[in-house]
Amino acid sequence: MDESNNKLNPFEMALTNFDLAADLLGLDTETRNQIRLPERELTVNFPVKMRDGKFKTFTGYRVQHSTARGPAKGGIRYHPDVNLDEVRALASWMTYKCAVVGIPYGGAKGGVICNPKEMNEFELEHMTRRYATEISFIIGPTRDIPAPDVYTNAQTMAWIVDTYSMAKGEWVPGVVTGKPLSIGGSKGRNEATAMGCVFVIAEAAKQLQINLKGARVAIQGFGNAGAIAARLIHDMYDAKVIAVSDSRGAVYAENGFDPHRAIDHKMRTGSVVGLAGTETIPGDDVLTVECDILIPAALENVITPCVANKINTKIIAEAANGPTVPDADTILDQKGICVLPDVLANAGGVTVSYFEWVQNNSGLYWTEDEVNAKLKQIIVGAFEEVFLASKKYKVNMRRAAWSLAVGRVAEALKMRGIYP
Ligand code: NAD
Repeated sequence: MDESNNKLNPFEMALTNFDLAADLLGLDTETRNQIRLPERELTVNFPVKMRDGKFKTFTGYRVQHSTARGPAKGGIRYHPDVNLDEVRALASWMTYKCAVVGIPYGGAKGGVICNPKEMNEFELEHMTRRYATEISFIIGPTRDIPAPDVYTNAQTMAWIVDTYSMAKGEWVPGVVTGKPLSIGGSKGRNEATAMGCVFVIAEAAKQLQINLKGARVAIQGFGNAGAIAARLIHDMYDAKVIAVSDSRGAVYAENGFDPHRAIDHKMRTGSVVGLAGTETIPGDDVLTVECDILIPAALENVITPCVANKINTKIIAEAANGPTVPDADTILDQKGICVLPDVLANAGGVTVSYFEWVQNNSGLYWTEDEVNAKLKQIIVGAFEEVFLASKKYKVNMRRAAWSLAVGRVAEALKMRGIYP
């Protein structure tokens, strides 16, 4: 990562994309002002009794960017670098992501400044329960519905459901999504982000007349989004996975390799590095190998102008949130690369979270096939709308997606009689 990259403020990046969309739509100043900034920001400082009996004070946030289209929705992140601007940015991203796929939610995000790698299960549980209590008066199944994000998982959500339900004196599974199946999680949620990403890639490939059978795929990040995307694009479309990376390095094989073997190897050794039949390459090279489809599925801000200049692919599908810095977009456009933006390409996760919430609220649970069929319908529909908007406005897919989303939020405000 170059130095200029480190200075990027994620909320300013989100505002840049918002302003471009608002310009395209010709939005009036008051509507812009209403949508631009978060509706509500809560900071909480709270004590947690640690395993050694001492108390430690943690700082956490919950930002609700918009409730114009429905209750706020977004994950909770545990990380030492969590800060208010990052949470604001991620909250606004959720507003637009939900609007792109047309699910009836606004956007929110939460986080606690902590280092979960240095905390044991006992401390994580106590911190989670206290944080949930601190934010409990602004969350709820019709207010704001959290979900897992970086270093939080189904167990974290289970603790939140329990804490919230105890305080309410009733069972409230719809207060969070991403729960374990045994307490109201949805089938298909684990694969949903990757599944949505692969559906979007297949639609783009059709439009660009790229045959996915044998198409060369490179993936940065081999976790929930990246590893499952590798498996699905290989199994469902017979594409060739030629390079993957994780935090320890990258592997490459000219003729591709079986991603199932890579998943097994990573489970056994903790990394993809050393996979039989592959050569080890520098981690960052995974972004610039010659391929047909590149899937950044790890970190934000990795496609800088410098990297964009070296990228050699036809489609970039952003499984990660915010992998491309705004200046790099111009270069990718000039090179004729089709970028499927994060608000569309990774929206499968929140879409199946929405299904989980619908199932919790109705008490009727769906099969995995039903979940995947409904996901495909929503994601393919959203792709078509974004693609048409990109043709109509003669803009790239990112600007088209944001414009569609911002337009939908503005329309909701208008229908509610809040703005003209
Ligand atoms: P994860 O923790 O399961 O996996 C992250 C992967 O990235 C790991 O394999 C890790 O080793 C790798 N990684 C870390 N640093 C790296 C580096 N410098 N180079 C290469 N790889 C590196 O996380 P995830 O859930 O797969 O999330 C990945 C991205 O997808 C994030 O941006 C996340 O916000 C986004 N996303 C995830 C979901 C979801 O449902 N999981 C939904 C929407 C967006």
